[in-house]
Order: sequence, then structure tokens, then C-alpha cells
Amino acid sequence: MQKVVLLVDDEPVSLHALEKIFTGCDYQIITSNNGHEALKVLSQSVVHVIIIDLKMPIMSGVELLAEVKKSYPDTIRLVSSASTDFKEIKDAVNQGFIFKFLSKPWDINFLHEAVRESFQLYANHNKKKCLAANGIFISDSELQNAIEKNQFLIYYQPIILADTGKIIGAEALLRWQHPTLGLLEPIQFISLCEDLGFIIPIGNWVLRTACQQLKEWHLQGHKNLHMAVNLSVNQFNHPRLIELITEVLVETQIPANCLELEMTESAIMKNRESNIMQLQALRNLGAQLSIDDFGTGYSSLSYLREFPINTLKIDKSFIQDITVNPNIIEILSMIINLAKKLNLTIIAEGVETKEQLEKLKENQCEMIQGYLFSKPLTKAEFTQLLTTNS
Ligand code: C2E
Ligand code: CA
Ligand code: CA
Repeated sequence: MQKVVLLVDDEPVSLHALEKIFTGCDYQIITSNNGHEALKVLSQSVVHVIIIDLKMPIMSGVELLAEVKKSYPDTIRLVSSASTDFKEIKDAVNQGFIFKFLSKPWDINFLHEAVRESFQLYANHNKKKCLAANGIFISDSELQNAIEKNQFLIYYQPIILADTGKIIGAEALLRWQHPTLGLLEPIQFISLCEDLGFIIPIGNWVLRTACQQLKEWHLQGHKNLHMAVNLSVNQFNHPRLIELITEVLVETQIPANCLELEMTESAIMKNRESNIMQLQALRNLGAQLSIDDFGTGYSSLSYLREFPINTLKIDKSFIQDITVNPNIIEILSMIINLAKKLNLTIIAEGVETKEQLEKLKENQCEMIQGYLFSKPLTKAEFTQLLTTNS
């Protein structure tokens, strides 16, 4: 996303001069000649840096500054004024209320440097808040609200038998129905949830809701359907995980072996010894365990023997290459053979084309998941698909 600097000054000459100073820079300059208009700009787009003239007739710079600090705390605030002995401004700079004070007449180099530093500061402040995919920003309180306001929902993607197209399971995939940004995908908010410690309550909600949904489908006659749920590292390491899963199994009365827990290689490779114990405890409950995104992490086949797992989900980046790269198909065939020897089930993820499906079938891959058969679906769509599939 292009960086945005908002210049607010009531004097056209000053605005023009400022604009000229920033001509040729690779960020967007927006100008505004009063505080009210500036607030309107802030409400409509992300502004990284604001430069506010102190002496303005309609809304003073100090008033605007206070409003920006309150309502747009992420925007980096710079203040510009002709008076160099403005004590309150100096105090404000010292207290971090304002990042920098730019005295008029401007020193062009100082101005450029101040804006560059502001961008840096903005990036550091907001690293955790940046929704990776499209650079939109959300705050902790929005996430907190999302839980309370039931804005999370689950999509279900079918897992099918490669030969017959029969649906044997579903993977629960989290979505966030954001009030203004629309339907958000996990890549846009999951790592933020992790950072802020929300992944435990959200993950627990996913587990419980997905299991309740599975029960509903079982009751509708789709008896052997499985439900795969993603577990984050923090969930996997949580001391109450076993208790929680036991609770959910008792509550929903689904057979434990219909619940499949997906973890990435990296999640279980750290602290191997204790993780093996945790995996074993999950197995003892009767749940099935999958390694997710296999082929992207350590990809060490030797550890497969040590871990009490049931399924390998081969990552989509692998699958996407199988029709173009003969080496990949050779590796895939090796993985499948080894998996068979170890009694592991293989699921190929991200199958998008018929050619990929054919290659997978040729190599005895039994189960697939991917857009070729179906994208992740809402609960209603999945229920509908089940009735036509069986
Ligand atoms: P994942 O576990 O590897 O899930 C599969 C992802 O691949 C899903 O993305 C799915 O929509 C996408 N996908 C499926 N078929 C295809 C295909 O044919 N082509 C392509 N290009 N993509 C395909 P999604 O739903 O955006 O989820 C992304 C990741 O977010 C998941 O990757 C998982 O790691 C994480 N995630 C999702 N839900 C949860 C959750 O409830 N808890 C945790 N901890 N992580 C979750
Ligand atoms: Ca997964
Ligand atoms: Ca995966």
C-alpha cells in the first residue's frame, strides 16, 4: 500500500511549498486547509503521517492534534509552526504526544528526514496490527469485540476420496465477518490473534462449533463424516487442551475418531519429547492427528516414525508443481510409499486441476481437498452438497 502524508495548513502558500518539497517522493500527498476537512480525510483513508500547522483559524492545530491522537492514534503526528518558542509544543514533543516539531521556515532535509523516520515509526508501531494480505489495519479492541459480537464463522471444505469423489470429511476454516471490511480470511488476522493471545478462545470456539456441526451432520445420516480442525502452536501447547477436547467430545457425543486435529510440522518439531507426549495424550482420547502443510517445514521423513500421527496433508505448493516438475512427482511418490509403510493416510491439499488429480491417482493418493472439487463452503452450502453427494 502506498504511504500517505496529510498536510494541513490554512495558508495556500505554505501548503503549496510543502507539496513542492515532497514532489517526486514515492508517497501520496493529500492537502487540506482546515482541521475539519483533515478529519474527513482521516475517516476515509489510512493516513500514515500528518503534518499539522499550529496556527489555523477554524480549528486550531492543537485541537486537531488532540482529535487525531484520540481517534487515529496510529497516525504519526508532526507539527509545524513559525514560532520556535512554543513551550507547550516542545513539551508535547518531549512527552511523545507529537513525534517531531518542524519549525518554519522549513529545512527541506530535516523535513524529508522527519517524514522518513515517521514512516519507520509507523511501521514499528503497527507491525502487529498489519493485516498481512492487504495492508488494512485493525486494533486489539476490534478483535476483542469480534469475539463478543459473534463475528467469527466457520467455512467447511470437503475432503474427498480421489477415486469416487465421495465426501469423507470437512476441514473447518475460520472466517471473520468484519463489520466494515467484509469477510476476512485467516491470513488477514490469525497471526494477530496469536500475537494478542486471542487464538486460545477463538481456537476453542472453532473446535466446539465444528464438533457441534459434525454432530448435526451425523444426525442427518452422514454417519462416517470426519471433521478436521486446525490447532495453532499455542493451542497445542496449552495445558488445558486435553481437558477441553474431552469436554467437547462428551458434550457433542461425536465418536472421537471422527475428530481430526491438524498441526503443522513446525508446531510439533520444537520440544520433540514433550510434544510426543502431548500427541500421545491426544491419541489416547481417540482423536486422529494430522501433519498439516507437509513438505513446507522440516520435511524430514525420519521423524514420522517417532510421532503417533495418522495423516499427512501434503501442502498445496507441492501439488501445484506436480504436473510441471517431474522431480516433484518422484518425491511425492516416495512420500506416498513411505506413508503407506507407516500406515499413514495421505491427503493432497490444493488440488485445482484435473491433471493434478490424475497424477495423484496414478500415484495412489487416496484423498484430496481443493478447489477442483469445492472451495470452502458455508454450513448451509456444505449441508446441501452432502445431500447431493451421497
Ligand atoms: P490450511 O490449514 O492449510 O488450510 C487450507 C487452506 O487452503 C485454506 O485457506 C483453503 O481455503 C485453501 N485452499 C483449499 N483448496 C485450495 C486450492 O485448491 N487452491 C488454493 N490456492 N487454496 C486452497 P484458508 O481458509 O484461507 O486458511 C488459511 C490457513 O489459516 C489454514 O491453512 C490454516 O493454517 C489457518 N486456519 C484456518 N482456520 C483456522 C483455525 O480455526 N485455527 C487455526 N489455528 N488456524 C486456522
Ligand atoms: Ca489445515
Ligand atoms: Ca494445509
